[in-house]
Amino acid sequence: MSTEPAANGPLDLTAALAEVTAVTGEHAARTDRDAEFPVEALDALRSTGLLGLMVPAAHGGLGGTVADLVAAAQTLGRSDMSVGMIFAMHCQQAEAIVRYGDRALRDELLPDIAKGGIYLASVTTETGKGGHLLSAQAQLTGGDGQLVIDRFAPVVTGGGYADGFLITMRSPGAVTDSDVSLVYAHRSQLGISGSGEWQPMGMRASHSGALKLSGSVPARQVVGEHGGFHEIAAQVFGPLAHLGWSAVWLGTAAGALSRVLRLLRSPAGRERFDLTSELLLSRISRSRQRLEAVHALLTRALGVVESGSDLSAPARQLLLNSLKITAADECHAAVDGLVTALGLRHGYLKDSPTHLERALRDLRSAALNYSNDRLHLADGRLALRDQGVNFA
Ligand SMILES: Cc1cc2nc3c(=O)[nH]c(=O)nc-3n(C[C@H](O)[C@H](O)[C@H](O)COP(=O)(O)OP(=O)(O)OC[C@H]3O[C@@H](n4cnc5c(N)ncnc54)[C@H](O)[C@@H]3O)c2cc1C
Repeated sequence: MSTEPAANGPLDLTAALAEVTAVTGEHAARTDRDAEFPVEALDALRSTGLLGLMVPAAHGGLGGTVADLVAAAQTLGRSDMSVGMIFAMHCQQAEAIVRYGDRALRDELLPDIAKGGIYLASVTTETGKGGHLLSAQAQLTGGDGQLVIDRFAPVVTGGGYADGFLITMRSPGAVTDSDVSLVYAHRSQLGISGSGEWQPMGMRASHSGALKLSGSVPARQVVGEHGGFHEIAAQVFGPLAHLGWSAVWLGTAAGALSRVLRLLRSPAGRERFDLTSELLLSRISRSRQRLEAVHALLTRALGVVESGSDLSAPARQLLLNSLKITAADECHAAVDGLVTALGLRHGYLKDSPTHLERALRDLRSAALNYSNDRLHLADGRLALRDQGVNFA
Protein backbone atom coordinates (compact mmCIF):
# COMPACT_ATOMS: atom_id res chain seq x y z
CA MET A 1 0.00 0.00 0.00
CA SER A 2 1.36 3.40 -0.85
CA THR A 3 2.24 5.46 2.19
CA GLU A 4 3.05 8.79 0.54
CA PRO A 5 0.62 11.64 1.19
CA ALA A 6 -1.80 12.46 -1.63
CA ALA A 7 0.01 14.87 -3.96
CA ASN A 8 -3.00 16.94 -4.86
CA GLY A 9 -5.31 16.40 -1.90
CA PRO A 10 -8.88 15.14 -1.72
CA LEU A 11 -10.38 18.22 -3.35
CA ASP A 12 -8.55 17.52 -6.59
CA LEU A 13 -9.67 13.89 -6.47
CA THR A 14 -13.27 15.07 -6.24
CA ALA A 15 -12.80 17.49 -9.13
CA ALA A 16 -11.06 14.86 -11.26
CA LEU A 17 -13.87 12.39 -10.64
CA ALA A 18 -16.48 15.00 -11.50
CA GLU A 19 -14.71 15.56 -14.82
CA VAL A 20 -14.69 11.85 -15.62
CA THR A 21 -18.31 11.23 -14.59
CA ALA A 22 -19.46 14.16 -16.75
CA VAL A 23 -17.84 12.50 -19.77
CA THR A 24 -19.10 9.06 -18.77
CA GLY A 25 -22.68 10.28 -18.38
CA GLU A 26 -22.59 11.74 -21.87
CA HIS A 27 -21.52 8.49 -23.55
CA ALA A 28 -22.82 5.65 -21.33
CA ALA A 29 -26.05 4.98 -23.23
CA ARG A 30 -24.19 4.66 -26.55
CA THR A 31 -21.28 2.56 -25.26
CA ASP A 32 -23.79 0.19 -23.62
CA ARG A 33 -26.03 0.01 -26.70
CA ASP A 34 -23.17 -0.58 -29.15
CA ALA A 35 -20.94 -2.61 -26.77
CA GLU A 36 -18.17 -0.05 -27.37
CA PHE A 37 -15.22 0.54 -25.08
CA PRO A 38 -15.59 3.97 -23.37
CA VAL A 39 -12.60 5.66 -25.04
CA GLU A 40 -13.80 9.13 -24.00
CA ALA A 41 -13.94 8.10 -20.33
CA LEU A 42 -10.49 6.47 -20.60
CA ASP A 43 -9.12 9.70 -22.11
CA ALA A 44 -10.60 11.59 -19.15
CA LEU A 45 -9.03 9.10 -16.70
CA ARG A 46 -5.71 9.71 -18.44
CA SER A 47 -5.90 13.52 -18.59
CA THR A 48 -7.11 13.96 -14.99
CA GLY A 49 -4.22 11.89 -13.63
CA LEU A 50 -6.63 9.31 -12.16
CA LEU A 51 -4.83 6.44 -13.91
CA GLY A 52 -1.95 7.38 -11.60
CA LEU A 53 -4.07 7.29 -8.42
CA MET A 54 -2.08 4.44 -6.85
CA VAL A 55 1.32 5.67 -8.11
CA PRO A 56 3.41 7.23 -5.32
CA ALA A 57 4.02 10.97 -5.51
CA ALA A 58 7.76 10.27 -5.82
CA HIS A 59 7.00 8.73 -9.23
CA GLY A 60 4.70 11.58 -10.22
CA GLY A 61 1.38 9.97 -9.23
CA LEU A 62 -1.42 11.06 -6.93
CA GLY A 63 -0.11 8.83 -4.12
CA GLY A 64 -3.63 7.72 -3.32
CA THR A 65 -4.58 5.19 -0.68
CA VAL A 66 -6.77 2.11 -0.92
CA ALA A 67 -9.51 4.24 0.69
CA ASP A 68 -9.15 6.71 -2.21
CA LEU A 69 -9.46 3.82 -4.66
CA VAL A 70 -12.63 2.58 -2.94
CA ALA A 71 -14.15 6.07 -2.90
CA ALA A 72 -13.28 6.70 -6.56
CA ALA A 73 -14.59 3.28 -7.63
CA GLN A 74 -17.92 3.97 -5.92
CA THR A 75 -18.24 7.35 -7.60
CA LEU A 76 -17.45 5.96 -11.05
CA GLY A 77 -19.75 2.97 -10.48
CA ARG A 78 -22.63 5.36 -9.88
CA SER A 79 -22.34 6.74 -13.40
CA ASP A 80 -21.20 3.63 -15.35
CA MET A 81 -20.32 0.22 -13.95
CA SER A 82 -18.07 -0.64 -16.92
CA VAL A 83 -15.98 2.52 -16.42
CA GLY A 84 -15.80 1.80 -12.69
CA MET A 85 -14.53 -1.74 -13.30
CA ILE A 86 -12.02 -0.59 -15.94
CA PHE A 87 -10.64 1.91 -13.42
CA ALA A 88 -10.66 -0.42 -10.38
CA MET A 89 -8.91 -3.21 -12.27
CA HIS A 90 -6.27 -0.82 -13.63
CA CYS A 91 -5.56 0.45 -10.10
CA GLN A 92 -5.20 -3.12 -8.82
CA GLN A 93 -2.62 -3.82 -11.56
CA ALA A 94 -0.77 -0.56 -10.86
CA GLU A 95 -0.57 -1.38 -7.14
CA ALA A 96 0.98 -4.77 -7.97
CA ILE A 97 3.77 -2.97 -9.86
CA VAL A 98 4.20 -0.42 -7.05
CA ARG A 99 4.55 -3.15 -4.41
CA TYR A 100 6.20 -6.01 -6.27
CA GLY A 101 7.97 -4.58 -9.34
CA ASP A 102 11.75 -4.29 -8.93
CA ARG A 103 13.30 -0.85 -8.83
CA ALA A 104 14.16 -0.71 -12.55
CA LEU A 105 10.64 -1.77 -13.59
CA ARG A 106 9.02 0.71 -11.19
CA ASP A 107 11.25 3.55 -12.44
CA GLU A 108 10.41 2.64 -16.02
CA LEU A 109 6.66 2.19 -15.74
CA LEU A 110 5.31 4.24 -12.85
CA PRO A 111 6.03 7.74 -14.28
CA ASP A 112 4.24 6.73 -17.50
CA ILE A 113 1.26 5.32 -15.59
CA ALA A 114 1.14 8.54 -13.54
CA LYS A 115 1.10 10.65 -16.72
CA GLY A 116 -1.83 8.63 -18.03
CA GLY A 117 0.29 6.99 -20.74
CA ILE A 118 -0.24 3.39 -19.61
CA TYR A 119 -3.67 1.85 -19.09
CA LEU A 120 -3.13 -1.67 -17.72
CA ALA A 121 -5.28 -4.71 -18.51
CA SER A 122 -5.42 -7.92 -16.50
CA VAL A 123 -4.82 -11.39 -17.96
CA THR A 124 -5.47 -14.13 -15.39
CA THR A 125 -8.40 -16.17 -16.76
CA GLU A 126 -7.46 -19.06 -19.03
CA THR A 127 -9.40 -21.61 -21.04
CA GLY A 128 -9.51 -24.89 -19.12
CA LYS A 129 -8.76 -23.49 -15.66
CA GLY A 130 -11.43 -20.75 -15.96
CA GLY A 131 -11.11 -18.11 -13.28
CA HIS A 132 -8.87 -20.13 -10.94
CA LEU A 133 -6.42 -17.40 -9.97
CA LEU A 134 -3.62 -19.42 -8.41
CA SER A 135 -2.92 -21.75 -11.30
CA ALA A 136 -1.77 -21.31 -14.89
CA GLN A 137 -1.50 -23.54 -17.91
CA ALA A 138 0.41 -21.53 -20.53
CA GLN A 139 4.15 -21.83 -19.92
CA LEU A 140 6.65 -18.96 -19.88
CA THR A 141 9.73 -20.05 -21.80
CA GLY A 142 12.87 -18.28 -22.89
CA GLY A 143 16.61 -17.80 -22.51
CA ASP A 144 19.22 -15.07 -23.03
CA GLY A 145 17.45 -12.76 -20.65
CA GLN A 146 14.14 -12.95 -22.51
CA LEU A 147 10.74 -14.39 -21.55
CA VAL A 148 8.59 -15.74 -24.35
CA ILE A 149 4.84 -15.20 -24.00
CA ASP A 150 2.35 -17.28 -25.92
CA ARG A 151 -0.99 -16.99 -24.19
CA PHE A 152 -4.66 -17.21 -25.11
CA ALA A 153 -6.78 -14.93 -22.90
CA PRO A 154 -10.54 -15.56 -23.16
CA VAL A 155 -11.70 -12.51 -21.17
CA VAL A 156 -9.66 -9.28 -21.08
CA THR A 157 -11.43 -6.10 -20.06
CA GLY A 158 -10.27 -3.29 -22.31
CA GLY A 159 -7.72 -5.58 -23.96
CA GLY A 160 -8.12 -3.90 -27.34
CA TYR A 161 -7.30 -0.50 -25.81
CA ALA A 162 -4.74 -1.31 -23.11
CA ASP A 163 -1.19 0.01 -23.34
CA GLY A 164 0.19 -2.75 -21.12
CA PHE A 165 -0.80 -6.14 -19.73
CA LEU A 166 -0.08 -7.99 -16.49
CA ILE A 167 -0.23 -11.66 -17.42
CA THR A 168 -0.17 -14.80 -15.25
CA MET A 169 1.67 -17.81 -16.71
CA ARG A 170 3.40 -20.96 -15.48
CA SER A 171 6.91 -20.02 -14.35
CA PRO A 172 9.91 -21.09 -16.47
CA GLY A 173 10.77 -24.61 -15.32
CA ALA A 174 7.51 -24.95 -13.35
CA VAL A 175 6.84 -28.37 -11.87
CA THR A 176 3.12 -27.85 -11.20
CA ASP A 177 0.30 -25.57 -12.43
CA SER A 178 0.55 -23.61 -9.19
CA ASP A 179 4.08 -22.31 -9.98
CA VAL A 180 2.72 -19.06 -11.36
CA SER A 181 4.60 -15.90 -12.39
CA LEU A 182 3.20 -12.46 -13.15
CA VAL A 183 4.81 -10.75 -16.11
CA TYR A 184 4.40 -7.27 -17.58
CA ALA A 185 4.24 -6.79 -21.34
CA HIS A 186 3.86 -3.50 -23.15
CA ARG A 187 1.48 -3.55 -26.11
CA SER A 188 4.40 -2.86 -28.48
CA GLN A 189 6.17 -6.03 -27.23
CA LEU A 190 3.29 -8.29 -28.24
CA GLY A 191 1.60 -9.54 -31.34
CA ILE A 192 -2.10 -9.27 -30.49
CA SER A 193 -4.94 -10.89 -32.32
CA GLY A 194 -8.52 -11.23 -31.15
CA SER A 195 -11.99 -11.98 -32.30
CA GLY A 196 -13.09 -8.47 -31.34
CA GLU A 197 -16.46 -10.03 -30.48
CA TRP A 198 -18.05 -8.97 -27.20
CA GLN A 199 -21.83 -9.19 -27.05
CA PRO A 200 -22.72 -9.83 -23.40
CA MET A 201 -25.93 -9.19 -21.45
CA GLY A 202 -24.32 -6.42 -19.38
CA MET A 203 -20.92 -4.81 -18.85
CA ARG A 204 -21.10 -4.16 -22.56
CA ALA A 205 -18.83 -1.10 -22.45
CA SER A 206 -16.10 -3.08 -20.66
CA HIS A 207 -15.28 -4.69 -24.00
CA SER A 208 -13.86 -7.81 -22.36
CA GLY A 209 -13.31 -9.95 -25.48
CA ALA A 210 -10.80 -12.71 -26.15
CA LEU A 211 -7.19 -12.07 -27.21
CA LYS A 212 -4.19 -14.11 -28.30
CA LEU A 213 -0.98 -12.56 -27.00
CA SER A 214 2.47 -13.56 -28.25
CA GLY A 215 5.90 -11.95 -28.05
CA SER A 216 8.95 -11.72 -25.84
CA VAL A 217 9.94 -9.35 -23.05
CA PRO A 218 13.15 -8.78 -21.04
CA ALA A 219 13.37 -11.12 -18.03
CA ARG A 220 13.33 -8.11 -15.68
CA GLN A 221 9.66 -7.56 -16.55
CA VAL A 222 8.60 -10.31 -14.17
CA VAL A 223 6.68 -8.73 -11.28
CA GLY A 224 7.81 -10.26 -7.96
CA GLU A 225 9.66 -13.55 -7.80
CA HIS A 226 9.18 -16.28 -10.42
CA GLY A 227 6.59 -18.63 -8.96
CA GLY A 228 5.65 -16.01 -6.37
CA PHE A 229 2.30 -14.89 -7.79
CA HIS A 230 0.38 -16.47 -4.87
CA GLU A 231 1.90 -13.79 -2.60
CA ILE A 232 0.82 -10.96 -4.95
CA ALA A 233 -2.64 -12.54 -5.19
CA ALA A 234 -3.00 -12.72 -1.40
CA GLN A 235 -1.64 -9.24 -0.66
CA VAL A 236 -2.77 -7.17 -3.68
CA PHE A 237 -4.83 -8.83 -6.41
CA GLY A 238 -7.41 -10.50 -4.15
CA PRO A 239 -7.90 -7.69 -1.60
CA LEU A 240 -7.89 -4.83 -4.10
CA ALA A 241 -10.12 -6.73 -6.54
CA HIS A 242 -12.68 -7.52 -3.87
CA LEU A 243 -12.61 -4.01 -2.39
CA GLY A 244 -12.57 -2.25 -5.78
CA TRP A 245 -15.24 -4.41 -7.45
CA SER A 246 -17.52 -4.28 -4.40
CA ALA A 247 -17.16 -0.49 -4.30
CA VAL A 248 -18.09 -0.26 -7.99
CA TRP A 249 -21.13 -2.55 -7.52
CA LEU A 250 -22.23 -0.60 -4.44
CA GLY A 251 -21.88 2.63 -6.42
CA THR A 252 -23.97 1.22 -9.28
CA ALA A 253 -26.74 0.04 -6.94
CA ALA A 254 -26.64 3.23 -4.85
CA GLY A 255 -26.87 5.30 -8.04
CA ALA A 256 -29.91 3.26 -9.10
CA LEU A 257 -31.62 3.73 -5.73
CA SER A 258 -30.86 7.43 -5.79
CA ARG A 259 -32.41 7.85 -9.25
CA VAL A 260 -35.48 5.92 -8.09
CA LEU A 261 -35.90 8.14 -5.03
CA ARG A 262 -35.52 11.30 -7.12
CA LEU A 263 -38.17 10.05 -9.51
CA LEU A 264 -40.55 9.10 -6.69
CA ARG A 265 -40.24 12.51 -5.04
CA SER A 266 -40.56 14.50 -8.28
CA PRO A 267 -43.97 15.97 -9.14
CA ALA A 268 -44.46 13.35 -11.88
CA GLY A 269 -43.45 10.57 -9.51
CA ARG A 270 -45.86 11.74 -6.79
CA GLU A 271 -48.63 11.65 -9.33
CA ARG A 272 -47.76 8.15 -10.50
CA PHE A 273 -46.80 6.47 -7.21
CA ASP A 274 -48.45 6.44 -3.79
CA LEU A 275 -45.58 7.32 -1.47
CA THR A 276 -47.60 6.15 1.55
CA SER A 277 -48.01 2.64 0.09
CA GLU A 278 -46.68 0.20 2.69
CA LEU A 279 -45.60 -2.19 -0.05
CA LEU A 280 -43.59 0.51 -1.84
CA LEU A 281 -42.02 1.74 1.41
CA SER A 282 -41.07 -1.80 2.44
CA ARG A 283 -39.50 -2.51 -0.93
CA ILE A 284 -37.46 0.69 -0.82
CA SER A 285 -36.40 -0.18 2.71
CA ARG A 286 -35.27 -3.66 1.64
CA SER A 287 -33.07 -2.22 -1.13
CA ARG A 288 -31.56 0.34 1.21
CA GLN A 289 -30.97 -2.33 3.87
CA ARG A 290 -29.05 -4.51 1.38
CA LEU A 291 -26.83 -1.55 0.46
CA GLU A 292 -26.25 -0.66 4.13
CA ALA A 293 -25.04 -4.23 4.74
CA VAL A 294 -22.62 -4.06 1.77
CA HIS A 295 -21.42 -0.62 2.85
CA ALA A 296 -20.72 -1.86 6.40
CA LEU A 297 -18.82 -4.90 5.14
CA LEU A 298 -16.85 -2.77 2.66
CA THR A 299 -15.91 -0.30 5.39
CA ARG A 300 -14.83 -3.11 7.73
CA ALA A 301 -12.78 -4.90 5.06
CA LEU A 302 -11.14 -1.62 4.02
CA GLY A 303 -10.15 -0.99 7.65
CA VAL A 304 -8.52 -4.43 7.86
CA VAL A 305 -6.62 -3.93 4.59
CA GLU A 306 -5.48 -0.45 5.65
CA SER A 307 -4.26 -1.77 9.01
CA GLY A 308 -1.38 -3.44 7.15
CA SER A 309 -2.17 -6.89 8.63
CA ASP A 310 -1.12 -10.10 6.86
CA LEU A 311 -4.04 -10.63 4.50
CA SER A 312 -3.27 -14.30 3.91
CA ALA A 313 -4.56 -15.12 7.44
CA PRO A 314 -7.72 -17.28 7.06
CA ALA A 315 -10.05 -14.95 8.99
CA ARG A 316 -9.01 -11.99 6.79
CA GLN A 317 -9.41 -14.01 3.60
CA LEU A 318 -12.88 -15.06 4.77
CA LEU A 319 -13.78 -11.42 5.38
CA LEU A 320 -12.56 -10.29 1.95
CA ASN A 321 -14.26 -13.18 0.17
CA SER A 322 -17.50 -12.54 2.09
CA LEU A 323 -17.35 -8.92 0.96
CA LYS A 324 -17.12 -9.94 -2.71
CA ILE A 325 -19.83 -12.60 -2.49
CA THR A 326 -22.20 -10.40 -0.46
CA ALA A 327 -21.67 -7.30 -2.59
CA ALA A 328 -22.26 -9.28 -5.79
CA ASP A 329 -25.49 -10.85 -4.50
CA GLU A 330 -26.93 -7.95 -2.52
CA CYS A 331 -26.25 -5.13 -4.99
CA HIS A 332 -27.94 -7.16 -7.72
CA ALA A 333 -30.84 -8.08 -5.40
CA ALA A 334 -31.25 -4.44 -4.34
CA VAL A 335 -31.73 -3.29 -7.94
CA ASP A 336 -33.91 -6.29 -8.78
CA GLY A 337 -36.15 -5.30 -5.85
CA LEU A 338 -36.39 -1.77 -7.21
CA VAL A 339 -37.59 -3.14 -10.55
CA THR A 340 -40.39 -4.93 -8.69
CA ALA A 341 -41.16 -1.81 -6.64
CA LEU A 342 -41.50 0.46 -9.67
CA GLY A 343 -43.05 -1.94 -12.17
CA LEU A 344 -42.83 -2.00 -15.94
CA ARG A 345 -42.56 1.66 -17.02
CA HIS A 346 -39.80 2.83 -14.68
CA GLY A 347 -38.43 -0.55 -13.61
CA TYR A 348 -38.11 -2.44 -16.84
CA LEU A 349 -38.07 -0.09 -19.82
CA LYS A 350 -34.72 1.05 -21.20
CA ASP A 351 -35.72 4.69 -21.61
CA SER A 352 -36.70 5.29 -17.97
CA PRO A 353 -34.52 7.91 -16.23
CA THR A 354 -33.98 5.34 -13.46
CA HIS A 355 -31.79 3.23 -15.82
CA LEU A 356 -32.60 0.19 -13.68
CA GLU A 357 -32.55 -1.99 -16.77
CA ARG A 358 -28.85 -1.28 -17.46
CA ALA A 359 -27.85 -1.44 -13.78
CA LEU A 360 -29.53 -4.85 -13.42
CA ARG A 361 -27.85 -6.26 -16.54
CA ASP A 362 -24.46 -4.92 -15.45
CA LEU A 363 -24.82 -6.18 -11.88
CA ARG A 364 -25.75 -9.67 -13.08
CA SER A 365 -22.05 -10.09 -13.98
CA ALA A 366 -20.90 -9.52 -10.39
CA ALA A 367 -21.48 -13.08 -9.14
CA LEU A 368 -19.77 -14.45 -12.28
CA ASN A 369 -16.78 -12.12 -12.24
CA TYR A 370 -14.62 -14.51 -10.31
CA SER A 371 -17.40 -16.96 -9.62
CA ASN A 372 -19.15 -16.75 -6.24
CA ASP A 373 -19.35 -20.58 -6.34
CA ARG A 374 -15.58 -20.79 -6.56
CA LEU A 375 -15.20 -18.42 -3.59
CA HIS A 376 -17.75 -20.37 -1.53
CA LEU A 377 -15.69 -23.50 -2.07
CA ALA A 378 -12.54 -21.71 -0.86
CA ASP A 379 -14.44 -20.25 2.11
CA GLY A 380 -15.84 -23.64 3.07
CA ARG A 381 -12.29 -25.00 3.32
CA LEU A 382 -11.12 -21.95 5.32
CA ALA A 383 -14.13 -22.10 7.64
CA LEU A 384 -13.45 -25.78 8.46
CA ARG A 385 -10.03 -24.73 9.79
CA ASP A 386 -11.51 -22.22 12.22
CA GLN A 387 -13.61 -24.25 14.63
CA GLY A 388 -13.78 -21.33 17.07
CA VAL A 389 -15.32 -19.07 14.38
CA ASN A 390 -13.05 -16.08 15.05
CA PHE A 391 -13.75 -12.96 13.01
CA ALA A 392 -11.09 -10.66 11.52
C1 LIG B 1 -17.37 -8.32 -16.97
C2 LIG B 1 -16.23 -9.26 -16.77
C3 LIG B 1 -14.95 -8.80 -16.96
C4 LIG B 1 -13.86 -9.66 -16.81
N1 LIG B 1 -12.60 -9.18 -17.02
C5 LIG B 1 -11.55 -10.02 -16.95
C6 LIG B 1 -10.22 -9.57 -17.21
O1 LIG B 1 -9.99 -8.40 -17.52
N2 LIG B 1 -9.21 -10.45 -17.14
C7 LIG B 1 -9.39 -11.76 -16.82
O2 LIG B 1 -8.43 -12.49 -16.77
N3 LIG B 1 -10.63 -12.23 -16.54
C8 LIG B 1 -11.70 -11.40 -16.60
N4 LIG B 1 -12.97 -11.85 -16.33
C9 LIG B 1 -13.15 -13.27 -15.99
C10 LIG B 1 -13.45 -13.48 -14.51
O3 LIG B 1 -12.43 -12.99 -13.70
C11 LIG B 1 -13.67 -14.94 -14.22
O4 LIG B 1 -12.49 -15.60 -14.31
C12 LIG B 1 -14.59 -15.55 -15.19
O5 LIG B 1 -15.80 -14.82 -15.26
C13 LIG B 1 -14.87 -16.94 -14.74
O6 LIG B 1 -15.24 -17.59 -15.88
P1 LIG B 1 -16.12 -18.83 -15.84
O7 LIG B 1 -17.34 -18.52 -15.04
O8 LIG B 1 -16.26 -19.30 -17.22
O9 LIG B 1 -15.21 -19.89 -15.18
P2 LIG B 1 -15.11 -20.51 -13.80
O10 LIG B 1 -14.58 -19.59 -12.79
O11 LIG B 1 -14.30 -21.72 -14.03
O12 LIG B 1 -16.57 -20.92 -13.37
C14 LIG B 1 -17.55 -21.53 -14.20
C15 LIG B 1 -18.71 -21.96 -13.35
O13 LIG B 1 -18.35 -23.25 -12.88
C16 LIG B 1 -18.53 -23.36 -11.51
N5 LIG B 1 -17.22 -23.63 -10.89
C17 LIG B 1 -16.04 -23.65 -11.53
N6 LIG B 1 -15.07 -24.01 -10.71
C18 LIG B 1 -15.63 -24.21 -9.52
C19 LIG B 1 -15.13 -24.59 -8.26
N7 LIG B 1 -13.85 -24.90 -8.07
N8 LIG B 1 -15.99 -24.66 -7.26
C20 LIG B 1 -17.27 -24.39 -7.42
N9 LIG B 1 -17.80 -24.04 -8.59
C21 LIG B 1 -16.99 -23.95 -9.62
C22 LIG B 1 -19.17 -22.11 -11.07
O14 LIG B 1 -20.57 -22.32 -10.95
C23 LIG B 1 -18.92 -21.10 -12.15
O15 LIG B 1 -20.00 -20.21 -12.29
C24 LIG B 1 -14.07 -11.01 -16.46
C25 LIG B 1 -15.37 -11.48 -16.23
C26 LIG B 1 -16.45 -10.62 -16.39
C27 LIG B 1 -17.82 -11.13 -16.15
